[in-house]
Amino acid sequence: MKSRKKIIIISSMIAAFVITGIIVIMVTNRTKTKEVFAEKTEDVIPPVITLKGKKEIILKGSEEYKEDGYSAIDNVEGSIVDRVCRTKQIVSEKEYKIIYSVKDKSGNMATAERIIHLEKEGTIYLTFDDGPSESSTPKILDILKKHNIKATFFILNYSDQATENLVKREVAEGHTVGIHGYSHDYKKIYKSEKAYMENLNKLQNKIYQSTGIKSTITRFPGGSSNTISDFNPGIMTKLSKKIQKEGYTYFDWNVDSDDAVGAKNAKEVYNNVTRGLYKKGRNVVLMHDFAGNKKTINALEKIIEYGKKNGYRFETITTDTPAIRHDINN
Ligand SMILES: [Zn+2]
Repeated sequence: MKSRKKIIIISSMIAAFVITGIIVIMVTNRTKTKEVFAEKTEDVIPPVITLKGKKEIILKGSEEYKEDGYSAIDNVEGSIVDRVCRTKQIVSEKEYKIIYSVKDKSGNMATAERIIHLEKEGTIYLTFDDGPSESSTPKILDILKKHNIKATFFILNYSDQATENLVKREVAEGHTVGIHGYSHDYKKIYKSEKAYMENLNKLQNKIYQSTGIKSTITRFPGGSSNTISDFNPGIMTKLSKKIQKEGYTYFDWNVDSDDAVGAKNAKEVYNNVTRGLYKKGRNVVLMHDFAGNKKTINALEKIIEYGKKNGYRFETITTDTPAIRHDINN
């Protein structure tokens, strides 16, 4: 009897263990099922951006970047290519990246990038001083537009609607409007630091009134190396420091077309510019768009064609452009 009771007790215990085990397994399984279900409702898989064409591109000379296209596929939403944002990230003067990014509706982000290498043979900054003029500036702007080139204009005061419209046009067409000065009269402007700053600020304000742009890019009348200001010894040394303190950046030139004085015709302007270009570097070309300067108008298109054919890039001067400056002689 005793041993039978024992067997019954042991059997009951085993049964209890087995039942408890089954319950535990059942409960665990249910929890697991819940977890799997919870995962399925939340999308944690980011979309995939695939770039068409090469991931690294080399642009030579004045070649422009062309987008080869891309796709963006999300596991839930399918194609979301129209939501891709493209941003340009400048790495150095010779390299930039295009960053492609997109988010799906659950906030999962995908990015891709394309690297663009710039193989510049040299850069040409075309600069035109002493405008605007009704006879020269529109023709120069037309040529620049035809060739899709941006340039820099160091302007003087303009006194009527027609010339004001030219300044507005320069801005609208992507050129830089720099300040040469309200007046170009050496005797007046180089009389004192005060006189020079007034001459500079006066035109800065006027340009701002006309275009909404506060230009801080300047060129000294006669250049920073001029000796025509000798009647006021040391003025250029003082001014070159003063204007930078006041937030301006000044640019001289290293290629002189000589179109204001020496060059007799368009051919000579062309020769002066093309022979003066330094193939591997930055070339700031001095030209003028004052009234009646036909030599430059007639030479400009050929200068641009020469530059493009020989792998130069044409750029506009900005506050980020490393300044080309002369030695100061006064
Ligand atoms: Zn000038």
